This record gives sequence, C-alpha cells and structure tokens, in this order.
Amino acid sequence: MNRVDIKEVNRNRVYQLVYQQEQVSKPAIASALGISLPTASQCVNELIERNLVYEKGYFESTGGRKAAIITLNRDIKVSVGLEILKELIHLTVIDLYGTVIHEKFIPFRFNNDEAYCIRVGEYIMEFIAECRLCHDTILGVGIAIQGLVDEKTGNVTFGRILNANGFCADRIGRYVPFSCTLRHDTELAASFALWHNPAIKDALYMVLNRNLGGAVIINGEVHRGQILPSGLIAHMTLVPEGELCYCGRRGCVERYCSADSIIHAFEQELDDFFDDLRNGEPKHVAFWEQYLKYLSRAIYNYQILMSTEVVIGGVAAKYLTEEDLHKVVDMELEKSNIAERFPRISISEYNNTAAGAALIYIKEFLGQFGIRVKA
Ligand SMILES: [Zn+2]
Repeated sequence: MNRVDIKEVNRNRVYQLVYQQEQVSKPAIASALGISLPTASQCVNELIERNLVYEKGYFESTGGRKAAIITLNRDIKVSVGLEILKELIHLTVIDLYGTVIHEKFIPFRFNNDEAYCIRVGEYIMEFIAECRLCHDTILGVGIAIQGLVDEKTGNVTFGRILNANGFCADRIGRYVPFSCTLRHDTELAASFALWHNPAIKDALYMVLNRNLGGAVIINGEVHRGQILPSGLIAHMTLVPEGELCYCGRRGCVERYCSADSIIHAFEQELDDFFDDLRNGEPKHVAFWEQYLKYLSRAIYNYQILMSTEVVIGGVAAKYLTEEDLHKVVDMELEKSNIAERFPRISISEYNNTAAGAALIYIKEFLGQFGIRVKA
C-alpha cells in the first residue's frame, strides 16, 4: 500500500468510527484505531474540510484540556424515497442514519403512462423545494413499487396489482436530475425494518398490508432468489382449490391473511373492524379466530422450511395484540409433534417502505467508506 492509500484507509476508518460512535474525541479516535494523535487529527481535519464531520462543542474535561466533540454531518448527503401506491404516492427524505427528516403523502392514482411519470417528477421536485434541499446533497431517488422487479433489466415483470408491467426507474428518472432505482416494495420495507433492528439475523419479514408481502432475511441481509425475490409467502397455497387470487392461482395466503381479506370481510376499514372486534362483536370474533388460524398455518408452512423468527410489519401489524401472537404460536404447535416450540413472532414498529427505498443510496454512499450497514 502506498502513502496515499494508507491516508485514505485511515480517513475512512475515522469516518466509520465517527459514524458508529456519533460523538467522539480525537484522542479516543487515536486510541480506538491504534493510530497516533497527529494522524487522527489530520484525518479529522480532512473530513472537516470535506464537510463530512464537524466539531460540535467540547466533552466535559476529565482534567487537562477539554477535547472537541467530533460528530457526523448527518445531512450533508440525503436520499429521497418514493413509494408508488395505487391511489397515492409517499415521499420521504432520510439522512445518513436512515432517519426520516421529511415526509409527504400525495393522493395521486397510478397510471402506467407518461403523464403519470411527468407529474410524479414534478411532485418530487416540488417536495425537494419545499424541504429546501440543495440538489447536490441528494444522492438519488429510491423507488418502491408493488410488483416484482427484474434485477438485471430493472423492469417490473409482475405488477398485476397496479397493472405496472414494464415500468422502470428511468420512466421517472428522465424527469428529475437525480439517479433513480426501482425495487420491489416488500424487499425495501424489510430493508428499513432491518436497518432499525440490526439484531435480526435470520427472519421472515411478513408485511400485512392491503396486499400481503414477505421477504426472507438471511444473515442480516434481505435474500434475493435466483429468479424471484425470496419470501413470496402471499402466493403459497394455503387452501387447495380455495379462493381465486390475483396471481391466477387458487387458495393463496394472500386471499386469507392480507389486510384486504379483513377489509373485504365486513366492508370496513381496519380501524372500524378492530374496534368492533375488541368490543366483542360475535361475527368479528369468529372471523378473527379463523383469520389467526390461517395466519398460523401460513407461518407453520414457512417454519417447516426455514425455522427462523418472524417479524410482522405493515398497516395491519399494529392491531395485532400479544394475545393474538400467542394464539398463532399455540395454533402452530397444535397437532404437530415435530417441534415443542417455534422461533419468536414479533411486531415491527418500523414500517416505512419509502424510507426503505431511500436507503438504497444511503447504503451505497456509506459503502464508499467501508461502512456496511445491515439492511
Ligand atoms: Zn396468489
């Protein structure tokens, strides 16, 4: 390694440390990285010159001179996330720590045509102006869509919910001066949940949205299958020859466990359904028992194959109680002699698919400094 390389390696290591510690002094950097104080100072000064870190006051003195607090300039670069839904778009801006700093929901019906893309481009630019963001701080626009996206071509290959077949990032990208990337929404939702729960190692991330989604996390990464993404639990057969699913097959988990299956049962929004359920409305209680049975059957089938923890997210997740989860676990074990227990089922509080889309560019930026963040 020549001197220039060593300098860069040290600078990157210092940036990584400041990122991880959030607040750190030059002497602490030197001792943590095993470099001299002058080297640590030089690296910090170079990072300050590039606006990547800054000095923010002083640590309390432990005797002797007070040490300056070095901290990350967390919004020197930001990323925009766009989630495309049937009836609305969701825009977010996140900083380098993945924190949502701006957010906006705009009712706007999806259409797989040019007029839609032009207007979405305008919405993005208006949003950025409202947030008073300098264009050169923006790393890119991550886009989430309900549909399967081919990794090589970047095109939607199965987008029957939105009728989005053939849609790609460039359709929006040509109307904004930023790099755009399009991905399957569930993977991005899983990525955001994982970012905020770095302890998750192996899990099924199950999204109880109006349409159900799933992604398998292996070794802290969202696993991508060879042709399809992983975890398409929505289209596993739950009831042979059962209800017709939008995918064309019958009896899919989607028809029995999605939020839509709850909404359509009583033609009620989730808030109203769960109010009636928790007030003991007999029809709702009976429906819910059956719903939990279906959910436990779906999770059982997954567990037989993977045996990992299950994290439930999405719009319906917040309505599930601890008691519901216990019931699902008990039902899973019922009549099965295979296991005495199954891995934990928990609810994720971090439901933000648009922010998951924005993470694409944050991860890429941090990766330049050797910072590998889970998600
Ligand atoms: Zn299906």
